[in-house]
Amino acid sequence: MTVEGPAWSSPGLRVGVGRYPLAVEQPVMSKAARLVPGVTTVTPHARYFAVHGLVAAEARAQGLDRERTQDLVRRAEVALAAVSFVHHGGHDSTIGRAHGTDALISWLKSGMVPLAEASRAGRGGYVGSAWGFSAAYFGSELTIGVLAPDRAPGPACEEPLLRRSLGELLELARREQLQADDLAGHHDLCICAGAGTEDGDWLAGLLCGTDTRAPDTEATQRRRATIQLVARIIDTHKIGTVTGDVGNILAFGSFLTEDQITARSPVAGEWRGLVLRNHTVSAWRRLWAWLVNGVSELTHVDDMVAALADQLPVGTVESFLATLPPTMSAAGEPTNAEVLLGAGSDGPQQDLAILAAGAARTRELTGPALQVFAGRPDQELTPSWFSALLHAQRSSPMADFACRLVQLLVARSERVAFMKTRRNADGTLWFPGRLRSLDGGWLYRTGKERRGSVNLRLDRLGNVLVGAGVLAAGPEGLSVTEKGRALLG
Ligand SMILES: [Zn+2]
Repeated sequence: MTVEGPAWSSPGLRVGVGRYPLAVEQPVMSKAARLVPGVTTVTPHARYFAVHGLVAAEARAQGLDRERTQDLVRRAEVALAAVSFVHHGGHDSTIGRAHGTDALISWLKSGMVPLAEASRAGRGGYVGSAWGFSAAYFGSELTIGVLAPDRAPGPACEEPLLRRSLGELLELARREQLQADDLAGHHDLCICAGAGTEDGDWLAGLLCGTDTRAPDTEATQRRRATIQLVARIIDTHKIGTVTGDVGNILAFGSFLTEDQITARSPVAGEWRGLVLRNHTVSAWRRLWAWLVNGVSELTHVDDMVAALADQLPVGTVESFLATLPPTMSAAGEPTNAEVLLGAGSDGPQQDLAILAAGAARTRELTGPALQVFAGRPDQELTPSWFSALLHAQRSSPMADFACRLVQLLVARSERVAFMKTRRNADGTLWFPGRLRSLDGGWLYRTGKERRGSVNLRLDRLGNVLVGAGVLAAGPEGLSVTEKGRALLG
């Protein structure tokens, strides 16, 4: 599970306040944004970049006002979803399903989509925003130059090319209704069919940084370096999923330093620190969810402490640390301690062990990996802060440590929730925390706390690169295409 929701099905645009109860995710999210500029958790499909560029060009050519442009964007997106649905007989393609498919499903299944009705936005529509899913892609499309800040065509928007490649989609978008039988002849417009087409090649060049029209050259270089790194790992390993398989190679072992090509990567160390840091962020999220979800309506904080202590081994913090697997190999490379620990039984002891592994890594990692990983020692819940806490508490019994930890986390979650508390229009207060403290140490829970890892965008990047023909997804896993090899040099 990821924080941002299921992988490909109509990613939501709103990040709900209260999803980050310990506010521990931000360093990981902002570093991922820096290392993969132009691809976000809500931009999994290459072809939308081209469609949105094409609509912007058409709006300029026809002198459309804002409302008519929005209407055309949404109609084109519904047409894209319909074409893709028909191409795959209602199943997902190798790169997932088109945006809005779930909301449009009854029309799609009926074989007739009335465009004016189906392309409505807002409540009951296929999408919330008047700009359709272009609202989700807009930041990315700005970054790589497809659109300008005023949503006009950007410096990289190549109108004639996009018209040759996808012009028929505009024709479909203007119809009153789409019939499944008519769409069967338009498989080349499907979300899966961009690889090897003119628009796929165009986007591939922009993402890989060989097309220099993208506005921010530094961001382009970082994205190029990340794609080169991911492609090299795919070239040298059997990779099923980018997040899991590539993530593990980035985090653990000797490949990053031993492979001569990867050793020169300007971003490999940062990626190592980022993936490792995400293991600790996930552990904090699970630990907090375990504590909160264990609270029945009303619980005393002492009972929460006792419940946690119950799950932990007896003995001191130091004796607990002595039972953990090594985090560094004899050769000085990070071992996959977090994976080994995560494979055991799910629970707070496992999460504390993963956090302790992270604390050990603050003394073992070096260079950019350490910089990204460790965080500041004076900032709560960073690996270096936790390392100092473990050191200070090393002679304490685990039960006392549990007490300290619960107090810290409850106080922190309250501070985070209060910072995000808002006054509703009717004058009442909206408090986003799932757990509230009452006088005398009593706690009560207003809802279930979520858990899961922060999405590092690697799977979305992989999906966009497959859609643009840089990578290919087959039964044997991912591979780098000839096109990709030529672009990444
Ligand atoms: Zn398809």
